[in-house]
Amino acid sequence: MSEFDLIRRYFTRQAPAGILGVGDDCALLPATPGAWAVSTDLLLENRHFFPDVPPDTLGHKALAVNLSDLAAMGAAPRGFVLGLALPSVQDPWLQSFSAGMHALSERYGCPLVGGDTTRSDAGITISVTIFGMVDARRALRRDAARPGDDIWVSGALGEADVALRLLLAQRGQGAADPVLGALTESHKAALLAATLSRLQQPEPRIGLGLVLAGTAHAAIDISDGLLQDLGHITKASRCGALLQAACLPLGGLLEWLPQDAAWQAALGGGDAYELCFTAPEASRGHILTLAQRAGVPVTRIGRITSDEGIRVVGADGVALQNLPGGFDHFGT
Ligand code: ADP
Ligand code: MG
Repeated sequence: MSEFDLIRRYFTRQAPAGILGVGDDCALLPATPGAWAVSTDLLLENRHFFPDVPPDTLGHKALAVNLSDLAAMGAAPRGFVLGLALPSVQDPWLQSFSAGMHALSERYGCPLVGGDTTRSDAGITISVTIFGMVDARRALRRDAARPGDDIWVSGALGEADVALRLLLAQRGQGAADPVLGALTESHKAALLAATLSRLQQPEPRIGLGLVLAGTAHAAIDISDGLLQDLGHITKASRCGALLQAACLPLGGLLEWLPQDAAWQAALGGGDAYELCFTAPEASRGHILTLAQRAGVPVTRIGRITSDEGIRVVGADGVALQNLPGGFDHFGT
């Protein structure tokens, strides 16, 4: 199959009215009032995904992580481009990968409008660049948190991290994982079944981001761990944070793990793709109404402080020690 057959078969869809999509030298997206919100992410085989990951979930996730960046800005999706480097053409893989990607693309009205395709020497590399639109005055920027703001998160935290730890343990990596502790093999299998979709098919919080724009102050999506990502907000906003560990939404984790382990996964675990945002205390009721409208649960987990640094206290008000760091590609 030629490069062009591949593009036609798997990546060309009828573009929505008004858009010139795949097939010309550039895509044409109509400009409307507002600012373009643009974001890009690279996914490398073995670094960001296991070689045996189901390709449809990989296609989903490659787009989902970019939609999540738009959500964290309060932007509306308009379209995306796909850079793909493949060692060889595997039809079933491409069929499944593109189907997973197109399914999510259709749900959010965010068409694939172009890209580039090339052979790689080794391993698959996927690059997605996404385009959204936002009123720049209402965009949810990292530098907009104010002391006294409530800190909120959407959904639940820690489940994707637990799934990743279980997959690494299966591969003989992270054998003595402190979060998994002494789970039996059958408990591990059941916990993986309960958490895997949170790792492989995160749901981008687009609807929530759209309703929060103009009301919330700062927002970020949690890709590298709550503490690290909230740290980007506090640093950019020149403030700090006080978190109540007992308020963290943990999904079903406490059915399986001791509280300390679940807190560890929720505070340090990446791949959650939930929104962490700040909003004035006076907006509490309004935030709950907006979140209900978006159909996404939100939980208040702390507040922004004027002292810098992030502290986390337990139910007894005592600060937790040994807080987990987040993920850093160049970290040691
Ligand atoms: P050019 O040589 O002008 O860069 P290409 O031959 O690389 O164009 O690509 C032909 C068309 O196919 C272009 O419209 C490009 O955007 C699109 N395209 C290439 N690869 C992909 C892909 N992986 N997904 C979507 N569209 C793609
Ligand atoms: Mg090209």
